[in-house]
Amino acid sequence: MPREQGANFRVGIGYDSHPFARGRALILGGVSIPSELGLDGHSDADAICHALTDAILGAAGLGDIGEMFPDSDPANQNRDSIQMLEAAVKRVSSAGYTVNQVDVCVVTEAPRLTPYRDKIRSKLSVALGIDSARVSVKGKSNEGMGWIGRREGLACIAVATLKGNR
Ligand SMILES: [Zn+2]
Repeated sequence: MPREQGANFRVGIGYDSHPFARGRALILGGVSIPSELGLDGHSDADAICHALTDAILGAAGLGDIGEMFPDSDPANQNRDSIQMLEAAVKRVSSAGYTVNQVDVCVVTEAPRLTPYRDKIRSKLSVALGIDSARVSVKGKSNEGMGWIGRREGLACIAVATLKGNR
């Protein structure tokens, strides 16, 4: 019987959060955004790249970012998270998958991401090896509620779909 079209289609979700800190850079999706407050973390704290890396690995059933890049490894300190994303893409591609499309939602009160959105999409599209039309990035406030509303940090949710090549 012929294989049903789209049968080898996979979906993954990723989530990440980091606290804001003074004297740290704010890097989202590989783009440095001018801001009084940056993000604290072991690597460059790029929440978009981390959530996306997890979404891509998750879609292929290949574990998560913590397994691939353990905090205990000094090599991962201040690591460029775009490189982590690229490594995840390489890993799923060796397992026979191609990234099809991604959708990212950053939940934060500040800064507004709209002016940087296209730059982030373009940077991510290069790392993912897909057209930027297949990369969606959205910013959303938390309406002043909770830890995000108090501007203690930001969160990012990402979804990725992969196509199986075999
Ligand atoms: Zn992170």
